[in-house]
Amino acid sequence: MAQIVLKQIEKSFKQDKVIEGLDLTIEDGSFTVLVGPSGCGKSTTLRMIAGLDKESGGEIWIGDHCVNGVEPGKRNIAMVFQNYALYPMMTVKENIEFGLVNRKVPRTERERLVKEITEVVGLAEYLHKKPQALSGGQRQRVALARAMVKNPGVFLMDEPLSNLDAKLRHQMRTELIQLHKRLGATFVFVTHDQVEAMSMGDRIVIMNKGRIQQADSPMKIYDDPDNVFTAQFIGTPP
Ligand code: ADP
Ligand code: MG
Repeated sequence: MAQIVLKQIEKSFKQDKVIEGLDLTIEDGSFTVLVGPSGCGKSTTLRMIAGLDKESGGEIWIGDHCVNGVEPGKRNIAMVFQNYALYPMMTVKENIEFGLVNRKVPRTERERLVKEITEVVGLAEYLHKKPQALSGGQRQRVALARAMVKNPGVFLMDEPLSNLDAKLRHQMRTELIQLHKRLGATFVFVTHDQVEAMSMGDRIVIMNKGRIQQADSPMKIYDDPDNVFTAQFIGTPP
């Protein structure tokens, strides 16, 4: 069970309150997209779920556990960023199995997992290449594969496609939707692009200025926006 619940989450940087009274339930197994203009608090929200930023108030639950104060490695989550942060000196294979080596997973089990996962993300032929020999899309797949070996209940993705060209971005959107179906994990995906959000999510959370404007299915948001901000942001005809 990897439902995520945020209860009255607040976040301030010094005097600056950037998230206020955020209440949100992210259903287990959903593909939830956080979308909103630059600076509205999407990344900060994701980083608090991951445990990379500490909330100034409120509670975060992942599954049956309140995770306030729990370190990122113990939250049953994996995070994928827009700048892939791969280890440049390591091969694709070494990058992917790094976390497994650290956790002392036996070699045969590592080999099996890496083989299975690289086939899923289409990297089987690239195992012995270094990241600089790969395209942007391939690097993004390595980052995904590295998250997948942890077999987390939750994938947190912060604008993972924004460095890709348009064609690849469209292809990766489809691949991520398929991957979500296949893994059955909870995906929380951040983007500032409303078209990307509406085409990928089964639940869309629209944010503005540190608050949630509306959280609904794409259909409901499009057909029945709760407020002017949502209508204008999504571009619903008047
Ligand atoms: P988004 O991801 O939606 O573009 P962020 O979550 O990155 O927005 O930022 C929300 C607000 O918090 C912005 O006003 C940003 O300037 C501020 N902020 C984010 N991180 C920090 C930080 N480490 N220190 C100070 N202010 C920050
Ligand atoms: Mg951001």
